[in-house]
Amino acid sequence: MDTAATYSLADLAAWSRPGVSLAVLGFPIKHSISPAMHNAALAEMSAQAPAFADWCYFRFEVPPEELPRALALLHEKNFRGVNLTLPHKILAVAQIAAIDPAARPVGAVNTLHWRADSWEGFNTDGYGLASGLREDLGVELAGADVILLGAGGAARGAAVECLQRGVRSLWLANRTRANLDALLAQLAPLAGAATLRGFSPAEAAAAGLPAGAVVVNATSAGLKAADPLPLDLAALPSPRAVYDMIYNPAETALLAAARALRLPAANGLSMLVHQGARALEIWTGGPVPVPAMAAAARAAMGR
Ligand code: NDP
Repeated sequence: MDTAATYSLADLAAWSRPGVSLAVLGFPIKHSISPAMHNAALAEMSAQAPAFADWCYFRFEVPPEELPRALALLHEKNFRGVNLTLPHKILAVAQIAAIDPAARPVGAVNTLHWRADSWEGFNTDGYGLASGLREDLGVELAGADVILLGAGGAARGAAVECLQRGVRSLWLANRTRANLDALLAQLAPLAGAATLRGFSPAEAAAAGLPAGAVVVNATSAGLKAADPLPLDLAALPSPRAVYDMIYNPAETALLAAARALRLPAANGLSMLVHQGARALEIWTGGPVPVPAMAAAARAAMGR
């Protein structure tokens, strides 16, 4: 089997590889750097523990309507674990028997672990974000003031993580007000003692935002060069740092604006690495070499 190849459902139906297989499913999936990250970690782990020598991670392109069949086949073929990316994270929730309690409020799973009866679902994206913020920017979510941009799937996962880790306040901004209001309503039961507010990105200066907040971009504005800025950083009272979940391109217009204001800033590659590391820990039941995963991710991105 070729770890650089992109496999299909037909390949999966004929799968007969001995050893422990892992997979990432997405649509599209060709550009995923997860196989490079995970296989680099497994190579390092097998040098210490020969049991990992027959572990290997593959990518499969699976359209959403084929997800139920793919998950059934992966289970039947004894794949130890599966990562899910766009558009499968929400769809999979209805197709698995067990879900980690921490992932339930997110309503999405990115990691599945083989159990005899079914798959158990986890969401490691929030852990990845918290770890990336700590590693790149020295930010701990507990007690922090966070300005979170976006109201899609990534924003929801990030918001749940912020509230579960005890931020002091969480300020959500989104282009479409109705999507913002829907997310605020879903989050309200989780807020506890935290201040939870929404604001329009165009009215940031009048929103009563706290000084020293960490800005996290969870919108897809910045994926394309022509995209508008999701927020004018100059309208915020002394932000502390800016984290953009986008990692390709490495520097979005938001990150360039942060650097122009001399703010600490980082892209989402560290989040990707740490969500992957946590998934591998779930599958292997032990520690994993995060630096090897980070080095492989940087190499795969040509950095
Ligand atoms: P969704 O499609 O679910 O949500 C997109 C969000 O972006 C919505 O809030 C949408 O606002 C907003 N948006 C889109 N275009 C614009 C624009 N031109 N201006 C302002 N806002 C805009 O996507 P996801 O939540 O799944 O993903 C969001 C981003 O997070 C992606 O770039 C993705 O690559 C990144 N990500 C990174 C990860 C990592 O590991 N680093 C992990 C997961 C995601 P509206 O409601 O108005 O449509």
